[in-house]
Amino acid sequence: MKRVDSEARRQIEVRRMWKGGPLRQISQKRPNAGWIAVDAGGYAGPYVCDKCQKPCQGVYKAEDGWQCGDCRKAVGVKVAA
Ligand SMILES: [Zn+2]
Repeated sequence: MKRVDSEARRQIEVRRMWKGGPLRQISQKRPNAGWIAVDAGGYAGPYVCDKCQKPCQGVYKAEDGWQCGDCRKAVGVKVAA
């Protein structure tokens, strides 16, 4: 896994993708090749868990927001990063 350079890291913000949707890290600079360009501008990285606030590869729809696999082990709709 490539290191995220410090300048790009400073530009990373956490944004909710749509009303009621999951949180996701967004950066105007591309930290590494794993980030994808989005229509709104900038690059989208890992999703962020509503519960533990940690970036993760995918989040699950839960009763209260979107949670990572550790916070919510089983059912739900998974959104892959
Ligand atoms: Zn979590």
